[in-house]
Amino acid sequence: MAKELIINLKRIREHSVILETEVSPADMELDHPDYIFSDPVFVKVSVQIISHEILVEGSVRFIVKTACSRCLEPISREMAIGSIFFSYEYHEQDFLDITSDIRDELYLSLPIRILCSESCRGLCAGCKKNLNRETCVCTGINRSSPFSHLDFDWKTQKGE
Ligand SMILES: [Zn+2]
Ligand SMILES: [Zn+2]
Repeated sequence: MAKELIINLKRIREHSVILETEVSPADMELDHPDYIFSDPVFVKVSVQIISHEILVEGSVRFIVKTACSRCLEPISREMAIGSIFFSYEYHEQDFLDITSDIRDELYLSLPIRILCSESCRGLCAGCKKNLNRETCVCTGINRSSPFSHLDFDWKTQKGE
């Protein structure tokens, strides 16, 4: 767990408190098959207790590293979750750990795919050259289509 994301509720009572912190991905136990987290995660939340409820509202910023879905080049992207909102039951407990909820929000915000650029031309289905940098040398199939790699995957799966 991340000690930065354990909120001391004794400090809050009827007031609202702003928590602004940087958390290491390791402490948050961030682990994802497609994304690497190597930079601190910025969390800014306001915490408020209203009768029997703890309200946590704020935003999260983080950096992910992954491969472009088309050309497979490594890319690093800054992501922001503009508004998170959690509520918890308040029964006079002293501490509240929001690590797992922040982690879940972060995973949910990850796109299914990221491109290095909207105009990324991907890899040639035939010669596998990165068409952003190199010229295709094969006489292969449909090399001009940005979706040629999808054709290729489909045909591979069909065993052609
Ligand atoms: Zn790309
Ligand atoms: Zn080619």
